[in-house]
This record gives sequence, C-alpha cells and structure tokens, in this order.
Amino acid sequence: MKGFDCREIETDISARWEEVFHADPNDQGKFYLTVAYPYPSGAMHVGHGRTYIAPDVIARFWRMKGRNVLYPMAFHVTGAPVIGISKRIAKGDEKTINLYRDLYKVPQDVIDSFTDPLIIVRHFSNEYERIMRRCGLSIDWRRRFTTVDPTYSKFIEWQWKHLGDAGHVIKGAHPVRYCPQCENPVGDHDLLEGDKAEIIRFTLVCFQGKDAIIPTATLRPETIYGVTNLWVNPSVTYARVEIDGKAWIVSREAAEKLALQDHSVTITGEVPGRSLVDSTVFHPLCGEVPILPASFVDPHMATGIVMSVPAHAPFDYIALRDLQQEGRYTDIHPVPLITVPGHGKIPAAEIVEKAGVRDQSDSRMDALTQELYNSEFSRGTLFEKYGGIPVRVAREQVANLMEEKYGSVPMYEFDVHPVVCRCGSGVFVKILHDQWFLQYSDPTWKARVADQVAAMNLVPPEVRTEFERTINWLKDWACTRKVGLGTRLPWDPGWLIEPLSDSTVYMAYYTIAHKIRNFPPEILTPAVFDYIFLGKDYPDLPEREKMEEIRREFLYWYPYDFRFSAKDLISNHLTFQIFHHVAIMPRELLPRGMVVFGMGLLNGAKMSSSKGNVFLLEDALDEFGADTVRMFLVGSAEPWQDFDWRNDLVSSTKRQIERFYSTIQEIGACNGEPATIDKWLLSRLQHRITRTTEALDRFQTRQALQDAFHGIETDLRWYRRRLPEGVPGSSILNTVAQAWVRLLAPFTPFTCEDLWARLGCKDLVSFAQWPVPDDTLIDPATELAEELLSRTVEDIESILKIIPFTATSITICTANSWKRTIFTTVAASSDRSRVAREVMQDEAMRQRGKESADVIKQCVTLVHRLPPDIVSALTHHTLDEPAIFQAAIPFLQREFGLPVRVTDADAMTHPKAAAALPFKPAIIIE
Ligand SMILES: [Zn+2]
Repeated sequence: MKGFDCREIETDISARWEEVFHADPNDQGKFYLTVAYPYPSGAMHVGHGRTYIAPDVIARFWRMKGRNVLYPMAFHVTGAPVIGISKRIAKGDEKTINLYRDLYKVPQDVIDSFTDPLIIVRHFSNEYERIMRRCGLSIDWRRRFTTVDPTYSKFIEWQWKHLGDAGHVIKGAHPVRYCPQCENPVGDHDLLEGDKAEIIRFTLVCFQGKDAIIPTATLRPETIYGVTNLWVNPSVTYARVEIDGKAWIVSREAAEKLALQDHSVTITGEVPGRSLVDSTVFHPLCGEVPILPASFVDPHMATGIVMSVPAHAPFDYIALRDLQQEGRYTDIHPVPLITVPGHGKIPAAEIVEKAGVRDQSDSRMDALTQELYNSEFSRGTLFEKYGGIPVRVAREQVANLMEEKYGSVPMYEFDVHPVVCRCGSGVFVKILHDQWFLQYSDPTWKARVADQVAAMNLVPPEVRTEFERTINWLKDWACTRKVGLGTRLPWDPGWLIEPLSDSTVYMAYYTIAHKIRNFPPEILTPAVFDYIFLGKDYPDLPEREKMEEIRREFLYWYPYDFRFSAKDLISNHLTFQIFHHVAIMPRELLPRGMVVFGMGLLNGAKMSSSKGNVFLLEDALDEFGADTVRMFLVGSAEPWQDFDWRNDLVSSTKRQIERFYSTIQEIGACNGEPATIDKWLLSRLQHRITRTTEALDRFQTRQALQDAFHGIETDLRWYRRRLPEGVPGSSILNTVAQAWVRLLAPFTPFTCEDLWARLGCKDLVSFAQWPVPDDTLIDPATELAEELLSRTVEDIESILKIIPFTATSITICTANSWKRTIFTTVAASSDRSRVAREVMQDEAMRQRGKESADVIKQCVTLVHRLPPDIVSALTHHTLDEPAIFQAAIPFLQREFGLPVRVTDADAMTHPKAAAALPFKPAIIIE
C-alpha cells in the first residue's frame, strides 16, 4: 500500500490540473461564483486561505454535479497603500522593511526593488497565484487581470460614463476622512485603526471669554439653556488662535482640525488650561457661567473644551458632584430645561443615583448617557419658557438660531478615536471642495438597491438586516483621489477613481477578460462595452465577429450566481456592488446571491497582518499539506462562523486524511464473498450522500464533512466489526470507496484525485459525477436492526466496565409483545401526556394495572431519548428482536469473549429481566 506523502501527491496532481479548470461556454448549465479579489501588498495568511478555499469547495461540488463552473481571480491594485509602502521602503523605514523581510519572508534583493510600487503588486500577484495553485483552487487563470491593466481601465471608463450620465456622480463640498500625510481622502481599506469611523456633525457654541471666543462642541445645542459652566482640562496647554479673523481659544489639535474644515487658522500663542479655570464666559442664551477644571476633557475630542449641562448629561452631573463633594463650587446647581415622561425633575441626577454610580470612571456611564439621550430626544419637551417644543424640533431650531445670530459653525469629528492611516499618520475630517461623490444618499437609487437585495439569495439569512441597514445609512461617497494607482475619471482626468469605486462590476469583466485583452485599448470605446454588456448595436462596431462572440460569452455566464466575501465588507463593497449593478445592468443580469464569511482567529485572537498575529498560508501548506489546510478551514466552522486556527487541531485533521488514504486503498482492494452486513453499509451510504449533498447545497461545509468524512468512517468501522471472522469484506467496498472519494473530492481534492486513480478510475475525480443516492438500496429495517445491536453492545460494554466481579456469561432478554404495543402507541402519539389514557382503553392493559403504568412511563422516557428519526422508523417497522440477537450471537461472543444467550424476558425470573423494553433489552451479566 502506498504511504501518504502529501507533497508528492500535490506536485503530481498540480501538473495534471494545469489547465483543466479553464471554463468556456458549452451546452451545460453554468454556475458562476466570484470572490472579492485580493489587494496583493503582502503575503497570504490562513484567514485569506479560507476566503478562497470555501468558494473552491462549492465550485468543485457544482462542477461534479454537472455544472460548467467558472471560478476566476484577479488582483486589485488600485489606490495609495502600495505607494505608501514603496515610499517607506525607499526611505529605509525599519518597521516596513521588517514586516516584508521577517513576516512575509521576501528576499532582500526583491525588497530593494519595492521602491517601485508596481513591482510590489506584480511580485505579490504572482505569489498569490502560486499559493492559490498550491491550495488546489480550481481557478480559470486565463482570466487573471489587475485593475491597472489598460484594458481594464477602458472598462472602468465605460462604467463611469454610465454612472455620470445617470446623474449618480455629483460634485460638491463634503466632509471626508482625510490623511494629511498622504494628502488624500482615505477609505476603510486605507486605515490601520478606526476603519468603521463615522463622521458626525457638531455645533460649535461660541462663548465669549475675556479676550477671546471659547467654543464648545455639542450634539445637543438645545441644552444651551441648562449650561451651568464649561469644563477645561487644567493640565492641557490650549492654543490662542485667529480663526476667520477672530480670536479663539481651543486645543492645538482642534486648531489643526478646523484648518481642514474651511476655516483660516493662525496659531498666535498658548494658554495653559489652569489659567482659564475660574474665569467666566458669556453666551446670550445662558448668561454668564464659570469655567471649571475637569481631567476627563480630551484635547483630541472636538475643541478640547466642553459645556456642562448637569441636569441632562450624566457625565457633567458626576463631574460636578465630585467637585462639590470636595466642598468646591457648592453654589452651582443643575438647571433643568426638558421634561421627559417617566423621568424626574433632574433626569441626569436621577439616572446616575438610581444606578448607584460612584464616579466618572464607572463603566456604565456611556450606556446611561445614551439611554437618557435617546429618551429625551424621542419623548422630551422643552420647558414652556424655552418654547415648549419637542426636543427633536428644538435641536435644529436652536442650532439654526446659533448659526444665524450667535456665531456658531459646524465642526466635524469621528465617532471613534483614534483613526489612523496605513501610512501611520492620524486621519482627520476635511471638507473637500470640487470632490466627486457617488450619490449613495439618493433615495431612488437606494430603493432600487433595496428591491434587488430583497430578491437575492443571502447566506446566512441573518445578514439581510445588515444589508438593509447599510443601504439606509449610506451617505454620499467620496469616489476620487489625487494620488494613487488607478483609472482617471473620464470627464475630469485630474482625479483618479478610488479603490472601492472601481471594483464594483468587475465580475462582468471576468467573463471577457481573456479575450478583450487581445484588442488594442484605444479601440475599446464605451460604445464597444455598450455592445458587449448591454447589447446596444451600432454600425461601425470594430471586429464585429469577435465582439459578438465576446457578448455571447458574457451572456452565458452572467449574472453571477454567488459572490463570496467576509462580513466586514457588507458596509461597503458588497453593498456598493449592488448599487453599481442596478445603475448599469438590465434587471435580468443583476446578481443572484451572496455568501458572507466570518472572520479568522489565530489561537483565539483576531488575525491581523499589521499586528503580526498571523499564520502564513504557505507555512501552513508546508507544515500540514494543502488538503489538511483546506479540510480544517472549511470543516472547523461553517463559512459564516468565525474560525480559530490552532495547530494541534490542524494536526488531528491531518491524521484523519492519512487514515482516509490508507482505508480507501484497503477497502478498494477488497473482493471477498458478500456478507449480510453489506446491505446495511450500502443503505447507510445513501443517507450520507443525501445529507452531504443537502449540506453543500446550503454552503454548510462543516455539516457536509460531518457526514462525508466522520459519518462514513464510523459506518465503515461498524461494518468491519460486523463481518464474520476471517471475511475481508466484499466488493461492495469498492463501490463505497468510489463514492467516498467523490464525496470528499471538493474538500481534499489532491488526495482524492490520487486515490481515484489508484482505484482504477480513468479521468479526473474533479470532473467525476457527484454521487447520487439510490433509494432502492435504502433498507430501514436492516438499519434499525443494526442500530439496536450497536446500542446493545454499548450497553453491555458499560455494564462490563462497572460490575465488581468477573463476568462469565451474558443474557439478553427481549421485551414481549404487550410492551411493544405500548411502545408503538407512545412512539406514534402526537401528545405524549395523554398517551396513558389511550393505552388504558385496552382491557388487557388495564388488567396489568401498575405494571402497565410503569411501562408507559419507561417508554415515554425511552422515546424522548431516542433520535426522532429512529422513533419514527420504529413506528413503521416491527423488529423481530429475538431473531436479530440470535443471528448476532457469534458476533457478540467474539466481541466480548463470553457465552451469550438470548431469551424472552418473561422466561426469566431474574429481577432485571422485567426492565426489558422494546429497542432496549434487559442485559443480565453473571
Ligand atoms: Zn496616510
């Protein structure tokens, strides 16, 4: 028998697979799946591995089910990150060089060439392809492209012409996330930290100090009427600034931020925070109030100065209470201004005292603040003297009033801190002018996207609400950049289209990528793509015949059937691509489904390249072999669940594959006489096939492996145990082997391809027919009989373990027919609480009195413990238990090395015999 050498098998099989996964249109039904393509700026880790392996399992499954499957791959190289990397390497930045040399294991001479960003992406694209091939991904590599290929740029120009013509791209001034070092707006992908940061709009309330304006930022301008004081941090040095010609005092950080938000800002001096304490400020809507010290005030947050409304803000209330407990500022009292049903006169005081909050550092403070904030906003009303209007109305009115009359301006901030660019610089909110935006806020566009998502097949179903929320919440998206790689905006070529915006309909491009690249880019005008994708013909279409063929190929594959991606892309890419599809493609070509993945953990912690907590995919392939990596990644959790990579668990997966490899070779060679148990094994196999198929139809890779691997292995173990002594197993084992290899081929394709050849099968298992269950081989009575036997064997084993003497014989006592009647009644009953009455209607049962009542109880317990499918089978098939056990005597005697007797329980006087129930004989060991 051939030993398992995964490296040898991988090398051998890779050579056979070189071009077999090229998919061209044919008469078969198609299955087209895509995965979000990678940004190749570093080495792949095992988390990336699962992103591409899980779809490959699905691709291989559908291919064996007879579909013509297209699984393509390309590389996304648009944007600025790689430019930043090359700049840092050119500057000799140690951290970056270490990452590439030590973690990604790039040779020094290659790193030296990384001063050219295109070399970085070329290097890693090739690396990605090499590793993906090692993983056995059944990709049609002819279609590979990068997003900076000239032909692809022509495709993007076409896409954007449509977006522009449809009015989806608008120009304006908008606040965006901005990196001052990169001099570029930044998207989620450009961020090292804070990638979910949202921009929120504050109102700056301008208090007049002694010689300068002291502004505070608020989301609740209507609470100005309840301001009792301001807070400054006494240990912070504030800046004296001239803003739009007026003197202000703000934190230095705030001055820098305001400079990015349409203000002229000149720093003219410094003001120690403690020198502001105890001075007073004035605002027309609240009068004169003092400035108090507070260490919680963060100079990085908004202006670095805070207005205090202790009646309605729990933090302010506590901070004031803390000072007053030291005997300071005892003359300041909370000033309420809002009534809320269900809250007292001073809501903040009440909520804080009720919760028993001790000080500002209490972890419940954020939640309490949010709770009060929400109920005041939804149900609160301002006091009569402030207008008596609902808070939700007052908020905007007061903000407008302040902006019109009292010098207020908006200030934009993130909802989380810090937000850091991949280049290492802090990211701020900048108001960009002349910026281009995709108008995702457009309600008509949103509605069409929502309709499409409602019609799509989403896996798992619970992601649907997340898509709906994203569609609702999406605002206009800054879609152009000044710096980076990519395609220029057709009508304003000073701008480049940013990475998340040039990667939304490229699934259509895959269908033509290998053919369209043969044309000179300059002939690929938008009209050509209009013909290919939209069927708009025109007289001077170049290369008509070839273009017709390309259109046919597009129409063969499109729309895609499923798109796979990690769940963190729901809030951007996965939703954006639906926006773009509905804007450009006709209804019948819109996407059909999406499968959203969970995230990868490494030994329980989140995987992250930038934090060094990753296990490289290539190291995993070297150490464990491709099939082990594949089987672990899709077998340890369902695709949408998070998975945790642990080397010890991966090692046990490897041993499973080794066992499988030797078992197949053993059983493939069996050609003994037919045995009684053959029928059972074939019957079981049909269920395994059905359940594996159903699981994979639902993308449940883990569930599928439960049957396709563990289930069949368990069945075989029982089968071999049940063979008569000296009988090797019949030729049906060859049938089982062939089915088993095919069932596992999507998961462990290298091993299965090798075994398929060893079983003497011609052609590749990758294209073999997926096993189909044969209902005529299903034999429920035989399965039940073996189930009864295996349960009885387990019972005997556990009794033998606990008896305090040496056993000399085993007696199996089967229950007699009146107990079987009760059991069947219980099993078939829909309401088991009423089953006793049902049974007792029978005169014979009534005469047995308490004995019947006890057996009913025992049967109810037994039926509850048995799996429902067995219970239901038992109601349809009457087992001849004595005959089953009689026939198994030689087997049982061999198993236990003891004489075994089978008898009717009624024939026994031993007290234990009375415990016999149907499907649970009494066992007497002497
Ligand atoms: Zn940056």
